[in-house]
Order: sequence, then structure tokens, then C-alpha cells
Amino acid sequence: MDLHSFLRAIPKVSLHCHLEGSVRAETFVELAGKHGVELPEGVDPEDPYDYPDIYGFLNVYNLVGQSVRERDDFRRITYETLQEAAEHSVRYREMLWSPMDHFQVGVAYETAIDGIIDGIRDAQSDFGIECRMIADINRMQAPEAGLEMVQHVVDNPREDLIGIGLDYAEADYPPERLWKSYRLAERHGLHRTAHSCEDGPPRNVETCLELLGCERIDHGYLVLGDDDLVQRCADEGVVFTCCPVSTAWVYFDDDLANHPIKDMAARGLKIMLDCDDPPMFKTNPSNDYIVAADYMGFGPADFRQFVLNGIDGTWLDEPTKRRWRLEWSREIDELITQLDDGP
Ligand SMILES: [Zn+2]
Repeated sequence: MDLHSFLRAIPKVSLHCHLEGSVRAETFVELAGKHGVELPEGVDPEDPYDYPDIYGFLNVYNLVGQSVRERDDFRRITYETLQEAAEHSVRYREMLWSPMDHFQVGVAYETAIDGIIDGIRDAQSDFGIECRMIADINRMQAPEAGLEMVQHVVDNPREDLIGIGLDYAEADYPPERLWKSYRLAERHGLHRTAHSCEDGPPRNVETCLELLGCERIDHGYLVLGDDDLVQRCADEGVVFTCCPVSTAWVYFDDDLANHPIKDMAARGLKIMLDCDDPPMFKTNPSNDYIVAADYMGFGPADFRQFVLNGIDGTWLDEPTKRRWRLEWSREIDELITQLDDGP
């Protein structure tokens, strides 16, 4: 077995994948047509996920959000992304979604979450994959809008919705703006994560850990600018959910070979890998592992560790985590013995 096949075969958890960023291009075009969402000039219906820059990406991302409106639309997109994940040996996903994107076009929270849960159930029975959801706050809106969204989550509890996250452009919207939303979530037993240090200063990670009570960090690359904080995160085993392909394109001049993920691992940070918005960045759950192997020089033992870090980063109960760590490491070790070049 070659390394790429090994990376496709190893069991994976997925902690950093966005539902709206996972909509297949043809599904997006079909749903946009169904709901009368016009594709602006420059967006090619044959290849809508081709953009010149991050603004082009965000523009299309918003259009995708507006094109998903009915309960069955949510079921379909959830089912389709989980089908793809299962094909890449993802066994368990905690998936981010952006309720506030759908509020813009009048979609009720309950319509969306119940359609998503339909998709989770169907995918579980067809492919065996398990999934829980994380409601993401759009940090570029007013903090009150974030609080209102979390209130919807609290008022409409679903066992499949287990936490909140924080997303969108970080630079001018520091995490402390959302402290009330995070307090509300904490009071109601919801788990917490946040996108941080993609393009914000290291102290944003500290704010997320200390003030927002985050249990893991999405991305976190620029934390490398603060040695003390890096040491603290390494000592405490804070899990960082890193996405090679999307972030290389957006932030690091497509320079995969010098992506900060390499340094994060070298400095003892507990990282796991995921694919962020797979079709929108023309990637998939295995491909982000594959580019990490090809461009960053990670080997089989590193990927084994990243998978186990991912299990540690989940919000599953401890006995399940212990069992998965044991069973999956045995499975991965067995696959390592089948590698052409040996372990
Ligand atoms: Zn993300």
C-alpha cells in the first residue's frame, strides 16, 4: 500500500468542516435555481467554486447559504457531505454550521436543524458515520445577533447539537465581543470552540481559552508568535483543528511547504487535520492529509498521532474516547505494516 492509499484508509475524526462549505457544486446550482437565487456575473454555473480571491469565495459562500432554505435542502446537503466523509474513512464528525446565514433569508432555526438531523440519521443508517453539530456565530455581525442565535439554540435543544463556534473574518472582530454568547452557551451545557489566530494576534487564543471557555481552537496558526502561549497550549494539550489546503490558499500564498502547521507540530502543539470547506477549496477529507504528507514531510507515525489528537479533541464521553484510541491505533498500526516502504 502506498502512503496516499494509507491516508485514505485510516479511520478519521473530523472536527473542522463547515456544512455550508461542503455543498457540492451541482447541488448548490440546483438549489439556487429552485429558490431563485441568481448567480452574479463572474460565477460560472459549470464551476461556481472558482474565485480569484477570498472576497470571491465569501461572496459564493453567502450565496450557498441563501440557497438552502427548506428542511429537505438541509437534509440533502448534510447527507451528501457525510457520504463523502464516509468514503474517506471519516467515522465521526462534529460539523460546524452557520444558522445566521440562513436567518438572512427567513429560514427558521428549527427548520434548519431538523433537516440537518434528518440528514445525519439517513447518513448514519446508510454509511455508518456519526455526526454532531456545532452552531457557529458570524462574528462580523453585531454581538447581539450572536447572542440571539445562541438563544435559539438554547430554546430549541436537540441532542445532536452539542456546541457553539465562532467564524468569519477575525482581524477587526476580536473574540471578546462575543463573551455574552459564550457565557450563555456555557450555562446551558454547550461545548465551545472558536476560529482563532488565522489572521488575528496570539492573544485571541488566550481570550478564547480564558474568557470564552473554549475547549479547543479552530486553526490557531498565529499563536506561534507568542512563545509562552505556545508552551502553555502544549502543556495543557489544547487541540488545534488545522486545515492545510484552505488556509494555504487564503493566508499563506498557497505555500504548503512553509505552512505554520509544520512548526506547530514541531513545537509540541496538539494538532489534528481537517478539510474546512472541501468542495469549495477543491479538496476532500483525505486530500488534506495527503498534501500534509507531500509538502510538509509528515509520515505515518505523525498521522497516527494526528488522528489520536482528533479523538482527544472530540466532545465525546471519556470511555468512548478511550475505546476509540485503543481500537483505532490498533487498526492504524495494522495498516502501517502494509505500507510498501514499511513503517
Ligand atoms: Zn473553518
